Amino acid sequence: MKVRVDEDKCCGAGQCVLLAPDVFDQREDDGIVILLEVEPAEHLHASVREAAAVCPAAAIELSENA
Ligand code: SF4
Repeated sequence: MKVRVDEDKCCGAGQCVLLAPDVFDQREDDGIVILLEVEPAEHLHASVREAAAVCPAAAIELSENA
C-alpha cells in the first residue's frame, strides 16, 4: 500500500491522526497533515483505509497494489 496526502485539500480536521497516529501527524501551526509513512506496514492498513474513508476533505489517496 502506498499513501499520498494532498496538503492543499486537507482542512486539518485531524481524523486521520486519531485513527492512524503511526502514519499521520499534524503540523503544529496550522494542523495540516504530515505523512509519516508512505508505505505503512501491513498491520496499519486497516486503520489507514479507515482514515482515508473518514477524511472530510478526501485528502488521503491510497494505492492498494503498490
Ligand atoms: S483527516 Fe483529512 S482533512 Fe483531516 S487532517 Fe487528516 S488529511 Fe487533513
